[in-house]
This record gives sequence, structure tokens and C-alpha cells, in this order.
Amino acid sequence: MSAGDDFIRAVVRADLAAGRHDEVVTRFPPEPNGYLHIGHAKSICLNFGVPREFGGRCHMRFDDTNPTREEHEFIEAIQEDVRWLGFDWGEHLYFASDHFERLYEWGEHLIRTGDAYVDDLSAEEIRAHRGTLTEPGRESPWRARPAEESLDLFRRMRAGEFPEGARVLRAKIDMASGNINMRDPVLYRILHASHPRTGEAWCIYPTYDFAHGQSDAIEGVTHSLCTLEFEDHRPLYDWLVDHLPVPMVPKQYEFSRLNLSHTVLSKRRLTQLVQEGRVDGWDDPRMPTLCGLRRRGVPPEAIRDFVGQLAISKTSDNLVEAAMLDHAVRERLNRSAPRRFGVLRPLKVTLENYPEGEDEWVDALNNPEDPEAGTRRLRFGRTLYVEADDFMEEPPKKFFRLAPGREARLRYAYLVTCQEVIKDSSGAVTELRCTYDPATRGGKAPDGRKVRGALHWVSAEDSVAAEVRLYESLFTKALPGVDGGALWDDLNPASRTVLGGCRLEPGLATAAPGETVQFERQGYFCPDPVSTPEAPVFNRTVGLRDSWARAQKQAAREG
Ligand code: ATP
Ligand code: MG
Repeated sequence: MSAGDDFIRAVVRADLAAGRHDEVVTRFPPEPNGYLHIGHAKSICLNFGVPREFGGRCHMRFDDTNPTREEHEFIEAIQEDVRWLGFDWGEHLYFASDHFERLYEWGEHLIRTGDAYVDDLSAEEIRAHRGTLTEPGRESPWRARPAEESLDLFRRMRAGEFPEGARVLRAKIDMASGNINMRDPVLYRILHASHPRTGEAWCIYPTYDFAHGQSDAIEGVTHSLCTLEFEDHRPLYDWLVDHLPVPMVPKQYEFSRLNLSHTVLSKRRLTQLVQEGRVDGWDDPRMPTLCGLRRRGVPPEAIRDFVGQLAISKTSDNLVEAAMLDHAVRERLNRSAPRRFGVLRPLKVTLENYPEGEDEWVDALNNPEDPEAGTRRLRFGRTLYVEADDFMEEPPKKFFRLAPGREARLRYAYLVTCQEVIKDSSGAVTELRCTYDPATRGGKAPDGRKVRGALHWVSAEDSVAAEVRLYESLFTKALPGVDGGALWDDLNPASRTVLGGCRLEPGLATAAPGETVQFERQGYFCPDPVSTPEAPVFNRTVGLRDSWARAQKQAAREG
């Protein structure tokens, strides 16, 4: 299914065609209690994408109704991440707390119309009265309390006369409803907590259910798009809008959440990972957070591409392979990322017949996928580094790289032949003594002899030492923690490998975070924020092997 075909876009198209709205207004409503992750990206791209396609706008709305869990840090980070992803809410930045006064008035309104009451039952008693999926609930003894009395108590709740948990405001709907959300849901609770925006102004706070639809109505949101777990809340959403003097009637639509394999997307789990020190922070490059992906070198376009391919449907939440995200990242970077030489596990090569003290420059293509990208010059000389695993002392027949007596191509430079292997006292190979063929400049043999391998390399003289961090999935299992075991047992102990003493071509020392490049034959890499020209640090964004593309081709072959 391509974008534009999903049921939400169909609804929007029909609403506009029927003249129900002049423009479409959506909102992205994060709770500021954590950082945004790739699952949120699905919601962001949908909420901002639909008005972009059909004309209209998307509001940025913080659902800040739970002061005990929320922080300024998250409010700032969320805005940064949405902007980075490529979306802009213009002047339409809202907080549910902007609407607290109006919501409070509407609480009083429902009391006056006989549609809400103050309940003195404790949270535990309310739970006990609620009933189950098969049994109806029981009415609170306070349900019939006169409106005047509820009004007085509600005002005193606001004035701070009662301790937390002493009383709540509840809608008076139907304790026998088949939908538990309709069994006199709580609209306000007492919380003597300081709020990041309203400070000490309030000691009663609206619940999500009371705040959300009403905020939509106040802001003129036409289509309130949320995930499937809110489907059972829709009757309450509609009931509240119907029983309040709201300026317009918004509608809620639910779509499936994104679940990604080999990671977790629950904020509770992500918070635990950070708080228990199992990762280095919210922006650890192994995290599925937007800031983690950014730090890893993932371009925002790749996230938009990936999310754009996901079904927006009402079928229950599906698990998407992490390899599909990696594929989208490669597709983008393959087109845009400059090619560079980086040797991750260096092995010294001395060209015995190259004149000592001399060097020369060779031209290297910046991106074979992009003719506009041009070339750069690389220094070539007597001492070089190649990748240690591009040499084998006893190679199999099809090993087309360096081995004793074998010739290989140093890409863009010369053909070289391994003459001698130097080892240390433990038997480890420390150096290759090679010869180069001066007639093969540019890497081409004038006599047409066939040399298959083309190796990357750097010169010892001007390459820079760097640390390179390789990443694998955070969890070993596609669905971590599901078959009985503890979630943490499925953490991947090899999720990060730190390599010191890597050698990179010199221009990379001054690259900045976000400038993702391809180290030829190794993958895509970008500088970490801690990187400095003196001590470069690179993160591997993704390797080159595309298991997703391969699996797709295989599936197509099998028809
Ligand atoms: P969690 O359940 O992990 O705490 P949440 O849904 O409470 O996450 P919010 O900050 O409330 O997180 O989410 C803001 C918006 O993003 C909501 O509309 C929510 O439906 C949507 N969203 C969150 N997670 C996903 C996901 N995995 N896929 C699609 N949309 C998501
Ligand atoms: Mg939530």
C-alpha cells in the first residue's frame, strides 16, 4: 500500500469532499515523560504528513496532565527531535496545561448538568466497584450526591483542602456499560505536585481522557489520530464532546502501533534501560530513540522513508523487522554518503620497492552513485595500512585479497604483491612486506592481467588514528522477553564493539556529527558528538550487508 491509500487518508479526503471541514487539523500529542522513539516517528509522519498533503496544519501538543512524571528536559528534546525529523508546527505549540482553566470550568459544567459528581471513594474502592469484563460495576454511594454538594467539594478540591486520593471527580455515565471506560470514569484527581509549567497553581489535574478530546476541540483539531489502545476510549471521547459546550466536534481515529524487532519501544522499558545504566543514555546509538538514531548517523529522510512504507491500518499491531529500517538507511546513504577509506583493524604494509622519503597523490571517486560528487586526492607512499582481514596466510582458493605471493589491487593506486610476512614473538602477523608494480598506476594493469581484489588502504604518513564503535541490535531476540525469560536476559552482550587505533584518511578528522560517510567495504559511519580533530570517534550507522533486500529477493523468487 502506498501513502495516500490508507483508511485515514480516505476519511480525510471524504470529509473535505463533503465540506465537513475547510482544512484538516491534526496534533501530535506526546507525554513529556521520555524521549521520542521510532514508533513515535510513525505517528509524527502521519499527523504532520496528512495536513501537508491535504492542506491544513498539525499542532504540537504536550499532554502534560501528569506532573509527577514530566520534565523540562523532555519538552525540549521532543521539539528538537520533531524538527530534526523535518516537521514544523509554526505558532501552534500547545500544552494540555494551557487549557487547565477551561477544563476546570467544564468539570463544573458537567456537575451542574448532572453528568458528573465528586466521589469520596478511595482509588482502591473505585477499582473494586468497577466490575470486570463479564460483570457490571457497582454504583458509588456518592453518585446520587446533590450537584450543589459536588460543586462545593470540587471547588474545595481545587483550593487544596483535601489530601491526595481523598476525592475525585467522576463522569456519571453507566456503571453497567460493557465498556469499562464508560463506568463513571475519573475526570480529575488530587495531586499535590509541582507542574513543570503551571508550578503550584493547581493541585487537581485532569485525566488523559478528560484533557485530550477537549483540548482537541479547543484547538480546532478535526482528526485526532492515535494508536489502537485508545479505541475503547473513543465512546468516552465522543460522550464528553457531546456533553460539553465545546466550540467544535473533533473525531478520533485509531491506527496500529509500530513495533520493531530486536528492540523495545515502550517508554517504561526505555526509561529502565537508561536508569539502570544498561545503555549510556537516551541518545546511546543503540537506542531506538530519534536522538539515538541521529547520533548513530541515521538521516531523517531514511526514517521518513521507512515510516512511509508502513501500513496505517486497524489490524492489530505488527512487528516490523529492524532490517527493514536498516535497509531504508542504506538506500538513502548509498545515494548521498561520500565514500572514504577507513581501516578498522590496521595491518602495516611496506612497499619495499617504493622509494624511501617519497610520496604521490592518487585520485579517488567520492561517490560512484553520484557523478556530481567529484574526486579527492589520497596520499600514497612506501608505508600504508590495509585491513588485517584482507590478508590470509593460508587462504582458500577464492580469497582474492592479499596472501603470500599473491597480487591484489590497492584501489585507485597500484597492484601490489605480498613478498614476506613479518610476525611478532607470539606469531601474530605485524607487517606485510610487499612490492608494487609502478606500471599499474590507477590500479589498472596495462597487460590486462586479471586481479580481482580491490582493497581500501590509507597511508601511514597522513592517516589519523581514531576510535570506531560498531553496533549490533540491542537485544538478541526479535521479541525480547516474551517467552517467559526476563527481558534483560535477551540483551545482546555484543551490541557494541569499540575498536581503538583505527586509521582513517585525514579529511575525516574534521567531519562533524551528521556527516555520515561510507567507509568503503565497511559500512556507513559518522562522527560521534564527542569526536575531536585530535581524537576522532566514529559510530557505525549500519553495515553494508543488506539482509532485508536479500530476504525480499528470495521471497520474490519463491513467489
Ligand atoms: P508508551 O506507551 O511507550 O509510554 P505512549 O504512547 O504513552 O508510549 P506518548 O508520548 O503518549 O507515548 O505518544 C505520543 C503519540 O505517539 C501518541 O499519539 C501515541 O499513540 C503515538 N505513539 C507512541 N508509540 C507509538 C508506536 N510505537 N507506534 C505508533 N505511534 C506511537
Ligand atoms: Mg501515552
